[in-house]
Amino acid sequence: MATKSDTTSETKVFENVVCPFCATLCDDLKVHVTNNQVGKMINACNLSKGVFQNAHKDWTTPMIDGKQVEYDHAVEEAAQILAKANNPLIYGLAATDVEAQKKCIELADLIGANLDNASSV
Ligand code: SF4
Repeated sequence: MATKSDTTSETKVFENVVCPFCATLCDDLKVHVTNNQVGKMINACNLSKGVFQNAHKDWTTPMIDGKQVEYDHAVEEAAQILAKANNPLIYGLAATDVEAQKKCIELADLIGANLDNASSV
């Protein structure tokens, strides 16, 4: 990965960045970083842009409709959604550790869900 500084601002440009968010592993991303925030990205798909540009967000706080809730409430809401689903899909898991993936597989078996990962995009 090469780095170039943009002398007109505090922006650093990282070239040939490898994206880890699906099995394609694109290795030609150009990523602009200003004040420790990812900005403009070249050669990145929307999935990659979304994850890189929101990397600093706190994803550990459970939320429903954008509002912070307690974990128990979030789990109950998720269970209700899954229980009502006609064709549930458990998707992603590319950045999920093995123990969590095992739990997802158990859940998919339990509710008859389809299971897919990010390599299918
Ligand atoms: S998520 Fe997008 S940019 Fe990243 S490796 Fe996959 S296709 Fe490439």
